[in-house]
Amino acid sequence: MESCTNRAQACPDCGWPESEIYQVVSRHPTSTGMVVYTRCACGRLQVRSLSLPGGPGTQR
Ligand SMILES: [Zn+2]
Repeated sequence: MESCTNRAQACPDCGWPESEIYQVVSRHPTSTGMVVYTRCACGRLQVRSLSLPGGPGTQR
């Protein structure tokens, strides 16, 4: 009985965990990081936004 799986979101259709990217459709860099379009194993399209540490303009 695992009751600590609240933070791990899964696909409502097939139950595929969102932490496991099935297929990356496309990525688009944004001002805060990156937006990644992923496709689930059931074909459901998902959009996830990733924030990169430091953000843009972190040139040494
Ligand atoms: Zn799915």
